This record gives sequence, structure tokens and C-alpha cells, in this order.
Amino acid sequence: MRDQGIGSWPARRARGTPDRVAVVHEDREWTYRQLHDRVLRLAHALRRLGVRRGHRVAYLGPNHPAFLETFFAAGALGAVFVPLNARLAPPEAVHVLTDSGSTVLVHAPEQADLVDAVRDEVRDLCVVALAGPAPGGFGYDDLLGGGPPEPLDEAVLLDDPCLIMYTSGTTGRPKGAVLTHGNITWNTVNVLIDMDLASDEVTLVVAPLFHAAGLNMACLPALIKGGTAILVPRFDPDEALRTIERRRVTHVFGVPTMFRAMAASPRWVDADLSSLRLVHCGGAPVPRALIRAYLERGLSFGQGYGMTETSPGALCLSREMGTAKAGSAGVPHFFTDVRVVRPDRTEAEPGEKGEIVVSGPNVMRGYWRRPEETALVLTPDGWFRSGDVATSDPDGYVTVVDRVKDVIISGGENVYPAEVENLLHEHPDIAGCGVIGVPDPEWGEVGRAVVVPRPGTSPSEAQVLGFLRGKLAGYKIPRSVVFAAELPHSAAGKLLKELVRARYGADRPST
Ligand code: AMP
Repeated sequence: MRDQGIGSWPARRARGTPDRVAVVHEDREWTYRQLHDRVLRLAHALRRLGVRRGHRVAYLGPNHPAFLETFFAAGALGAVFVPLNARLAPPEAVHVLTDSGSTVLVHAPEQADLVDAVRDEVRDLCVVALAGPAPGGFGYDDLLGGGPPEPLDEAVLLDDPCLIMYTSGTTGRPKGAVLTHGNITWNTVNVLIDMDLASDEVTLVVAPLFHAAGLNMACLPALIKGGTAILVPRFDPDEALRTIERRRVTHVFGVPTMFRAMAASPRWVDADLSSLRLVHCGGAPVPRALIRAYLERGLSFGQGYGMTETSPGALCLSREMGTAKAGSAGVPHFFTDVRVVRPDRTEAEPGEKGEIVVSGPNVMRGYWRRPEETALVLTPDGWFRSGDVATSDPDGYVTVVDRVKDVIISGGENVYPAEVENLLHEHPDIAGCGVIGVPDPEWGEVGRAVVVPRPGTSPSEAQVLGFLRGKLAGYKIPRSVVFAAELPHSAAGKLLKELVRARYGADRPST
């Protein structure tokens, strides 16, 4: 095989372990042979729909085998896969589809209304529905029909773009991090080496595949070794515990909110978790109490730190060090370098705060068609600036302590206040606003909007939040609104977020 791309993985696995179960979804199973066959059929179908090297193929929906099939099929053609967060509001979906220039959109039945709302606003979009053909579109299963497909003859290289994952930024609108086949491959290799995953791993994929955590940390490491990925479309803590018992799950990767909910479930005490070899948590700060709850159950608890732009793994805390260094995000992955640096880019001493910067074969090439924004985060010598503040200990273990960038992490999803504030400024009764994160026992953090009404108006909390609904995904909408007479600004007119947090970030002040 000349093809080095991830699109060749199902074929390689079908050659090595054809009859092992690759994917499980709602009690249906697909072997590697079946996965390879379906990927090949879909790749031919996408070609018939006009998809060529470099074209963008989008997917919208919760965890489902079709997500993986589309990802691998696009990869096999040298096309670029664009996963959309299944919870986007219509204007957000239009932005991602038009910004990426996607020509094909594959979508789940749950997202049919969203697709109806956006398809007229995206030019020349070919729509493929898992539920069957809608007027003017195609049915997914129909595309897979026909006799056995010929092998594809595409030579996809590690440097070719594979994936555009949209992530918001401090400047507001989501931008696409372009990850190459090599980025994804090296991230997978890093995870296999450092988390010591076996070839018979049964991995519970509770994190969404449209996020780098679900696809690249949970699913792909299982699939590259011939393990089994159990795809969970909607996380439910009781159901997750039941599946671990029933399917003898060995590895689960999720965000802290998920593991917290599992430990709080009534099933937690009696659940048989003896099959679990590794509980792997990341994507947001991991509280020590959570780590203790899992260690007390005799489970190995590993941690990961990273971001979309680094595919995502940058730091990891292995199962061996999970107890001794609990609370730390760990050391750099095997093929990746991480430094904690001062503002002048010199290395911070152990114990001294600095910004985490990351270099290595898993770091993105840049943001899709945004050279200026790329230049802000990627230094000329190849270091990605994370915007996270950390300290390291004398053994090199890094602990994330704060963020430079203005982001709220709610249940593992990033909410960029700038995006919410930009919309609030369009409200006719709002003269000024600042969105901050406030601690929440379930979600880690939730958003709070601090709003200055225009003179003579008195918008209510319900009106302010209602204004955002339908324009933003639900998880980005603040949970509360506090009204203020004015907001603190610097002499240059910049909103002083630290002061807004100090004044309005604690218990809800009376308004
Ligand atoms: P995303 O691009 O959505 O994967 O979000 C990346 C951000 O999540 C990082 O820049 C951190 O702020 C945060 N993050 C990820 N993993 C951890 C972790 N283990 N501890 C603390 N923060 C984390």
C-alpha cells in the first residue's frame, strides 16, 4: 500500500484482524472486514458525488459508525473531513459549512431540522442523510449499495490535510484547526506508547467524536491496534456503568464532568468495574477529589492535557504515576515537547508560573485560511502557544493552574466569552456586557453574563438569554444574567475581565 493516510487504516486492520469487532453501536457490531468494506463503498460513492483530493466533507451528528466511515472514506480519497458539533445552532452550522467550503454534508436523523434550516444558505451543498434520502439529497445506505468495490488508488501522504476541527477563539467566530494525517497518526502513537494500550482494548467512547478528545484520544488508539470502540451517542452515567459491566470495557476516556456523574450515580457503589484497566480523563481541569474517588475504587486513573490544535495530546499522566502525581497533568507525550515559559520565552524555573507551549509532529499546520490568527499562536520556530498557565515540579510534571486566554470550560466544552459577548452587543437594550465563568459543581464552570442595560430600558434575564437561543449552541448560553450600572474598563477602553470576575463571579449579587 502506498497510501500513508488514515483512510488506509481499516484496510490494514482488515488484513491483520478481519474478524475482530471494530465498532459497537446500540448492540450492533461491525468487524474490521465490514468496516473496511463499508469505508471503501462510501469512498467510491463520495467520488461519484464529485469529491476529490482536498475537497471538504462535513459530518453532523452524535457518535455513530457512519461518523467513522465518513472520516475514513474522506481520508482515503485525500479529502478533508469536517466534523460539526452536533449541538450547533443554525447560524453556527452555516458558518462552519461556508468557512470550510464543504461540498458534501452527511448528517444523522437527529440533525434533520438543523440541516433543513441551513441547506439553502450554503451554496452547492450535497446532503446525505443517514435516515434515507430527503428531497434533493441522498440516502446514506443507498450510496453503499452495489457489488464489491475496487480498491482505491490514492496515495495520501502524512503531510496532507486530514481534518478541520472548529474551535472558537478569543477573537469570536470559530476557526478551523487543520490537522494532517501525520498529526493524527503521531497523536495516536503517542497515546499508545504513554497510556500503554493493549491490542485487545475495549474502549468506551463517551466523549463526542466531533471533538478531538473523542476521536483522537479514545477511538483511534483502539482502532489502530485492533481493539473495539463502543460508540455512545448520548452520555448517561448509569448506562455507561452498565455498559462497562456488560461489555467488559477495559478503557474509557472522558471529560471530568462525565466521570463525576458516574461516581455520583447510585450504581457506582455496586457496579462491577473489574474489567477497567485505565480510566483516562482530560479536556478540562481534573479535580483531586475526583481522582481520589476513582483511586479508592482501585482503578488506574490517567490524565491527559491538550487542545484541538495539538491533535490533542500534549501532556499525559500515566497509570503508574496517577497516584504519586495526582493533580498534575503529567509529562510531555513521547514524541512531543512541552515547555513552561516566561513572557520573554525563557524557561520558567520549577514552581514558577509560565505559559505552556507545545512542539511536535502532532501540532497543527495552522488555522484554515487564517494566516494572521495562525501567526498569533504558532511561533516561527514551531511552538504552539496554548494560552494555559502552569507550573512544573523538579521531576518535570506540569500542573495547569490558570488560563491566559479567556475561555470557560463547561462540561469539557469550550465556551469563548468573546463569541457570546459579540452577540449580546447586538441586543438593542444592551449597552455593555462581559461574560465570565462561575464555578459549578456539575459542569466545572458555567457562564454568567454581566449586562449593562441601555438607559431607559430594563431587559429581563429571560429576554437576554432568549435572545441568544437559536443563535448559539445551548452549552454556550450563560446560565445566569447579572445586571450592572457599569463595567470596569481600562483607560484604553478594554474590559477588565479580572475585575468583572472579582465583582460578579462569586454568589449571585442582588440586582
Ligand atoms: P479543546 O481545544 O476544546 O480541546 O480545549 C483545550 C483547552 O482545554 C486547553 O487549552 C485547556 O485550557 C483545557 N484543558 C484540556 N485538558 C486539560 C487538563 N487536563 N487540565 C486542565 N485544563 C485542560
